[in-house]
Amino acid sequence: MSSKNKNWDVIIIGAGSSGIPAAIFAAQRGAKVLQVEADNRIGGTLHWSSGQMAAAGTSVQAKLGIEDSPQAHYDDVQRITDNTMDPVLGKLAIDNAADTIEWLFELGFELAPGSPEAGVVHEPYTVRRYYWGNNEGISVLDALRPTYEKLVSDNKISLQMSTKMNSLIVENDEVVGIHATQDGLTVEYRGKNVVLTSGGYAANNDLWQEFNPEQPLCSFCNPYSRGDGMVAAREHGAKVDGEDKFLCTFAGWREDADDPLSGQFFNLAPNQRRAWEIYVNASGERFMREDHPSIDYHENSLLNQPNMKMFIVCDSGILQNAPPITYLPEDEFKAKFGSHPNFYKADSIPELAEQMGIDGAILQNSIDEFNQSVRNGKDPTFGREFMLREINQGPYYAMGAQGITVCSPAGIAADENLRVLREDGSVIKNLYAAGEVLGFTRLTGKGFAGGMSLTPALTLGRLLGQKLLSW
Ligand SMILES: Cc1cc2nc3c(=O)[nH]c(=O)nc-3n(C[C@H](O)[C@H](O)[C@H](O)COP(=O)(O)OP(=O)(O)OC[C@H]3O[C@@H](n4cnc5c(N)ncnc54)[C@H](O)[C@@H]3O)c2cc1C
Repeated sequence: MSSKNKNWDVIIIGAGSSGIPAAIFAAQRGAKVLQVEADNRIGGTLHWSSGQMAAAGTSVQAKLGIEDSPQAHYDDVQRITDNTMDPVLGKLAIDNAADTIEWLFELGFELAPGSPEAGVVHEPYTVRRYYWGNNEGISVLDALRPTYEKLVSDNKISLQMSTKMNSLIVENDEVVGIHATQDGLTVEYRGKNVVLTSGGYAANNDLWQEFNPEQPLCSFCNPYSRGDGMVAAREHGAKVDGEDKFLCTFAGWREDADDPLSGQFFNLAPNQRRAWEIYVNASGERFMREDHPSIDYHENSLLNQPNMKMFIVCDSGILQNAPPITYLPEDEFKAKFGSHPNFYKADSIPELAEQMGIDGAILQNSIDEFNQSVRNGKDPTFGREFMLREINQGPYYAMGAQGITVCSPAGIAADENLRVLREDGSVIKNLYAAGEVLGFTRLTGKGFAGGMSLTPALTLGRLLGQKLLSW
């Protein structure tokens, strides 16, 4: 093992959404900053993220005459998530979100046309406080990059790329450094503070299974989101929770049935596309109102099905006339039927059911009842209103879908100064955390309040660098 015992003021694990602002502000305050990044590029999940952020009381809102306040934002998030956001960290992130957006504007971040909005793919806020740039998460990275890279080239931030933190060094109950792998060697770095901004674990199926065994992983995320920071902190007694608040995104499929990280999205969010099809569960029965306007209703309905699984069922009339149900080019989509194990096509309903592995009589009954509802203009079971066509024209089609995720629910607990906490509430000295390593659900609760993962990641990282860390 080689030792790099330069006494760093701050050692930051990960150069993503949260780690970059933490490093920028700590370096600008004069700290000797070491940043280790497992990937060979900076940006982390910003390379994947839609980059949608939320903040109340911004200059943009003022210009547009939108009245808003952090309290209204906080209340809105708690309304959307049924009061399951962590009140302390939620307030910290929300109270400081507008300053983050203003800082991004100072760095050159530009809003895309149409932004701010009240809601896009998530449950809408009561006012327009939802912001994004022209190029998803990359717009945010592009704004951060020049300042960050200048600090690196001025030796204010020592960036060690392709360097993976493996564990924390703890002596006398205090965190004093990290062990990392670099060029195949184990190295040791020592410093006064260690900041975990290493992201979530949606790319680690073993960890996922440990926390949410009932919800098989189907994820679309940064492959470096492997939960290393959470595991390292847990080894030293950090409290980890939040998995019980998991909510899936509606809905996706595994492109490779054996690969939980091969998630792809169906285009089923009700605010983007109204369902022409019916959804049935693994028993072949309808289980929800497919045209319900609330995305939250959709997500919870699917979450409550065994293994978060359902089938989307339609006939050729619907397939030809309805808006696209995936984001694939039409020929690629059509080629899936017959070539992909989740996409089924048959000349009759019993044959379709057989392929799907479900009871043909039950599926037939679900379709007959739906067709009756279409004819009557009334769905007595679920109250569905949007029913344009019966399912009666072969060939018939079904697609296996499941709850998909871009984030991981559980994470390490921290206090209002972002110091990592043990199970008993005591502080692990010199150890801080921000971003998704805190658990996606800590800042969004059980629900999706728009922008409430990326904005807190940026904001809490910024606050650490700006004032919460001392050396
Ligand atoms: C497809 C997608 C769309 C999304 N859209 C939105 C959205 O619109 N709005 C929103 O609010 N949220 C969104 N999110 C979530 C949000 O982008 C993330 O939660 C947030 O970016 C996480 O920031 P972070 O700093 O915690 O982690 P990251 O940005 O992932 O940064 C962590 C960094 O740590 C590095 N790292 C990991 N392990 C180690 C290790 N052992 N040693 C060294 N480095 C390590 C990683 O390589 C990475 O660079 C989305 C996520 C995805 C995947």
